Amino acid sequence: MTNAGEHDHATEYPAESGASRFFTGLRRGLRRKCPNCGHGLAFSGYLKIRETCDCCDHKLGEYRCDDAPPYFTIFIVGHIVVPGALAVEQSGSPSLELQLGIWIPVTLFLTLALLPFIKGGVLGVQWAMGIRG
Ligand SMILES: [Zn+2]
Repeated sequence: MTNAGEHDHATEYPAESGASRFFTGLRRGLRRKCPNCGHGLAFSGYLKIRETCDCCDHKLGEYRCDDAPPYFTIFIVGHIVVPGALAVEQSGSPSLELQLGIWIPVTLFLTLALLPFIKGGVLGVQWAMGIRG
């Protein structure tokens, strides 16, 4: 059992470089954890990034994800929904109402479900590459 109070705030996190740092940041970010330490929470809400990490005091608020998370989310969801709709269409030409009845909710659900994790991933990659402001 881990007690958050036992974390040493002065702990040094050894600098990685290149691909290792990229995947460390991406993995921690996709879990919505602080990319710098992997322990603290990076988000204080659905999409709100904390100003500083509770665990290592890293200044998470300095990263600006802008429209990258929605862009990657739309890209991924599109690559699920479009082939899915085409496959259903080929399997027996269902009515337009049925197609829309399936794919509009699927699109909304996937977008809202994936966006916070993809935003975490973008934050992690920004940390890995030192992209701030
Ligand atoms: Zn941290």
